[in-house]
Amino acid sequence: MLISKTRVQREKKTIELMIAIYCRKKHRTKKGLCQECRELLNYAAGRLDKCRFAAAKPVCNKCTVHCYKPQMREKIRRVMGFSGPRMLLAHPVAAVQHFLDGFKDISGNCSINQPK
Ligand SMILES: [Zn+2]
Repeated sequence: MLISKTRVQREKKTIELMIAIYCRKKHRTKKGLCQECRELLNYAAGRLDKCRFAAAKPVCNKCTVHCYKPQMREKIRRVMGFSGPRMLLAHPVAAVQHFLDGFKDISGNCSINQPK
């Protein structure tokens, strides 16, 4: 389905932006991404690719994080917790909120909007 494919691409872009913010602030990377963040981005993009069939279903929103292996999930969780609120300020796109909604469902409460 064309729409769901676009959504996957949009989510990839969202993840990329989030990792970029995280890497710049946390790892003090001047340009691009550090090794670790590049791996994380590749992994996240790979998960989204595998997810493409199911992306037509609304619930698959959660899948982007559900199908991560624990180590990567922990990393992406940290990235989202850090970059999520900043993303909403810097890139107030509906897609971001949509993406965060899926993430929120995993633990039943939103780990993104809670102050750390
Ligand atoms: Zn980094």
